[in-house]
Amino acid sequence: MTNEWILVSPHRALRPWQGQVEKTPTAVEPQYDPGCYLCPGNARAGGVRNPDYRGTFVFDNDFAALRPNVDSERLDFGGKGLLVAEGEAGICRVICFLPRHDLTLATMQQNEIEQVVGTWKQQFSELGALPQIQHVQIFENRGAMMGASNPHPHCQVWATRSIPEAVAKESAAQQHYLQNHGTCLLCDYGEIELQQKARLVCSNQHFLAVVPFWAIWPFEILLCSRRHLGSFLDFTEGEVSSLSSILRQITATYNLVFDVPFPYSMGFHQTPSDRQTHPEWHFHAHFYPPLLRSASVRKFMVGFEMLGTPQRDITPEMAAQRLQSLVDVKP
Ligand SMILES: [Zn+2]
Ligand SMILES: [Zn+2]
Ligand SMILES: [Zn+2]
Repeated sequence: MTNEWILVSPHRALRPWQGQVEKTPTAVEPQYDPGCYLCPGNARAGGVRNPDYRGTFVFDNDFAALRPNVDSERLDFGGKGLLVAEGEAGICRVICFLPRHDLTLATMQQNEIEQVVGTWKQQFSELGALPQIQHVQIFENRGAMMGASNPHPHCQVWATRSIPEAVAKESAAQQHYLQNHGTCLLCDYGEIELQQKARLVCSNQHFLAVVPFWAIWPFEILLCSRRHLGSFLDFTEGEVSSLSSILRQITATYNLVFDVPFPYSMGFHQTPSDRQTHPEWHFHAHFYPPLLRSASVRKFMVGFEMLGTPQRDITPEMAAQRLQSLVDVKP
C-alpha cells in the first residue's frame, strides 16, 4: 500500500529479553467516573460541562491541534525549498462512543457500535463537505501505551485542508496499481487473502480482517470491505451492521492475546474529501497495536528501523495464526 519494504527475521523471535517491561493495566473501570472529563454531566478542562448525553456525543476538542481559520499562505525562506512552511487549517473533534465509562468496542453491544458507525458517517459527511477541508481522518487510541489520555470509550476526528502523508502515499500506490492493472489494489489483495487464508484473522459477509503481508507491527490488522467502496457514505445498512460486528470481534480477540486490554491505534482510510473522484480508493481500517511478546513487552521502532527499514520478528502468518485461534474463544 505504500511501496515500501519491510525486513522479516523470524529466527530472532527466540532471543532473550532484558529490556523495558511495561506496567500491565489491571484497574477495573467504574461505569461512571466523577473525575472523567468525558463522562456525562462532568466539567471538561476548558470549563465547559458535558450534557447528560445518552448515545454518542460529539464536541470540538478543547485543545485542538488544528484551528479552522488559518491562512494557507506558503513561505519559502531563502527561495531554495529548504525551509518551506504552509498554514494548515482544520477541525478536531472528539466522539464519545457512549455514556458508560467502563465499556470498549470489545464489550459494547452490536447496536451501540452501529450507533457509533452512524456518527462516524455523519461526521465524515459534515466535515468533508466544508470548503476548506480535503481530508477527514477518524482514529481511536486505546491504552496508556498508545498515549490515550482517558479510558472512556472515545475517538477523534481530525479534518484537514491538506491530505495527510500516509493517505497521500496509499493514494499514489492505489492509483498506480489501477493504471497498471485496470483493477483495484485492495480488491485484488483481498481475493488473494481469502484464497490463501494464511493471514486471514476473521471475515463476514461484507468485511475481512488480515494480518497484512506487509505488516510492521507484530499483531497489525488490515480491515477491508469486500465490496469496492470508498467511504462510509457508500455503506448499505448491512455493511454498517457487518462492520460493527467485525470491529467487536477484532477488539475482543486482541484482548485475549495476552489477557489484558490490548492497546492500539486504529483508524479508517477513506476517499479524500477533495471533490475529486477516487475510483482507486478502497475503504479500509488499520489497527496498529504495539505489544510483541507479552502484556508488558512492546515492540520498539528504533535503530535500523529509524535509520533504515522497519523490521519484524514474528511473521504475519504466525501472528494471524495466533489471532485466528482466539477469534471464537469467549473471555
Ligand atoms: Zn468517563
Ligand atoms: Zn477495491
Ligand atoms: Zn490505509
